[in-house]
Amino acid sequence: MMNSLELTRPELLRHQNFIRGTWSESAGGATLEVINPASNRSIASVPDSDARDARAAVEAATAAFKTWRQETAMQRRQLLKEWHRLLLENGEDLARLMSLEQGKPLAEARGEVAYGASYVEWFAEEAVRVNGDILPSTQEGRRQMVIREPVGVVAVITPWNFPLAMIARKIAPALAVGCTVVAKPSEDTPLTALALARLAEEAGFPPGTVNVLSASRSNGALVGDAWLADGRVRKITFTGSTPVGKHLARESAETLKRLSLELGGNAPFIVFEDADLDLAVAGLMASKFRNGGQTCVCPNRVFVQQTVLDEFVTKLQAAMESLVVGPATHPDATIGPMINSRAVEKIQRHVDDALERGARLVCGGERVQNAVAAGPHFYLPTILTNVGADAVMCHEETFGPVIPVIAFENEPEVVTLANDTPYGLAAYFYTSDMRRAFRLPGLLEAGVIGINEGAVASELAPFGGVKESGYGREGSVYGTDDYVQIKYLCQGQL
Ligand code: NAD
Repeated sequence: MMNSLELTRPELLRHQNFIRGTWSESAGGATLEVINPASNRSIASVPDSDARDARAAVEAATAAFKTWRQETAMQRRQLLKEWHRLLLENGEDLARLMSLEQGKPLAEARGEVAYGASYVEWFAEEAVRVNGDILPSTQEGRRQMVIREPVGVVAVITPWNFPLAMIARKIAPALAVGCTVVAKPSEDTPLTALALARLAEEAGFPPGTVNVLSASRSNGALVGDAWLADGRVRKITFTGSTPVGKHLARESAETLKRLSLELGGNAPFIVFEDADLDLAVAGLMASKFRNGGQTCVCPNRVFVQQTVLDEFVTKLQAAMESLVVGPATHPDATIGPMINSRAVEKIQRHVDDALERGARLVCGGERVQNAVAAGPHFYLPTILTNVGADAVMCHEETFGPVIPVIAFENEPEVVTLANDTPYGLAAYFYTSDMRRAFRLPGLLEAGVIGINEGAVASELAPFGGVKESGYGREGSVYGTDDYVQIKYLCQGQL
C-alpha cells in the first residue's frame, strides 16, 4: 500500500485546515478519517470542521478581499502562474495523494494534475483580460462606461471524483478576477485540496485569499448552511449531485447569492449505422472508463442503431479486454476501485434492476473477485444489451463501469430517447453523415456535445450543463463571467 513516505515532499500530506494563512485544527477538535477506497483502510485524519470554522474562513476571506481586489491584474497573474508552476513541479506527489484517497490509477491521476493545472494557467492569463467597455454617449459631455468587478467572497464546494481539477477550475477564475475563496472539498477526498492550499501558500497568495477546510458529510452540510446564511458570501460555486445543488439553490435565496451549479448527468452516446464503428468504440472506451465510469460526462446510455448493434457490441467487448481492474499502485491498472461501498451497491442495484426487466448480460455484472483487485470496491467492466427505456440505469447516473446498450431504429426516435431525461450535461454521437453532424447538435439538449469525439473537456472550452445538470460555465473566455458583476458608470460634465 502507498503511504505518505512515498511522497517526495511529505509535508504535502496536511492534517489541518488552512484559514487566514495558518494551519489549524477544527474549532471543536473533531477529526475525520480519510479512507483509501482500494484497501478500505484509513490513510490519514483531517479536521472535521463545523459552522465555527466556516465562519472563521469567511471572516478571513472578507478581510483579504479588501486588498486582494485592489491588486494589479499583473500581480494576480503572477501569483497564479507561480501556483501553476508549483502544481506541475509537485505533480507526482499530488498524483500519488489523489490515487491514494480517490483510487484512480496513477496514470490517470497524473493526467488530472496536468488537466487541473491547465485551468490555473488559463485563468492566470485571463486575469489581465477582465476588460470593461466604453458605451456611445447619449448626451453631449456625458461618458458612459461599464466595468467588471469581482463579486466578493466565493464559497467553493466540490465532489470526490476529480479531487484536483474541480477545485482548481473554481479557485483559479475566482482569484483571477479579484475574489477571495473559502473552499470545502468532499469528505472522501480532502487531502488533494489541502495539498493545493499548501502550494497556494508557497506561491505567496496573501493570507485569507484562499481558505480550505475539511469536514465530514454531516458537518460539511453545517459548513454549507453557515455559508448559505452568511450575507458576506456573495457566490457559491458547486460541483456535485443534483439534489445537493437544488438544496443550495433553494437556501441561497435568502441572501440572493450568485450560483454556479455543475451537477449530475445522464449522457447519451449515439452510434448511427453510418458511423465508423472502430472510432465509436474508441470514443466510448475513452469517455466511459475514465475514472472507472465515475465522471459526470461519461456516457450513461449507449444508443446503437439496430442494424449495427451486434457488430458494435462485438467490437466493444473485444476492446474492453484491454481493461485491467486493480489498485492505483498496480502498474497496469486502468480501472481503480469505486469510491466506497455505497457506490458499488448502487451499481449492482442498477445492473440487477436492468436484468430483472429483461436485459442480457454480455460481460461483467459483478464485483471483482481476483487477487489483483482484492478490495471490496472493485467492479467488473460490464455490458448489458436489450436494456429497456424503463430501467433505472436509463434515468439515474450509475457512476460505474457499466454500459447499457439500447437499440434504436431511426434518428427522430433516438433524439427523443436521448432527451428523455431531466439532465443535460454531455451528449455524444457518431456519424459519417455531414448533414446529420450539423443537424443533431441543435436537437440534443446538453451543454457539451461530442461529435465523433468522446474526450471533450479542455480549459479552452466552456464546460457546463442545461436543465437539471445546472448552470454556469467553467473554463474558456466565458469562465470568469460567473465571478464578476457588471457596474455601469455614468459620468456627466466634469
Ligand atoms: P455530492 O452532491 O454528494 O457532494 C458534493 C459536495 O457537496 C461534497 O463536498 C459534499 O460534502 C457536499 N455536500 C453534501 N451535502 C451538502 C449540503 N447539504 N450542503 C453543502 N454541501 C453539501 O456529490 P458527490 O457524490 O461528491 O459527487 C458526484 C456527483 O457530482 C455526481 O452527481 C456527478 O455527476 C457530479 N459531478 C458533476 C460535475 C460537473 O461538472 N457537472 C463534475 C463532477 C461531478
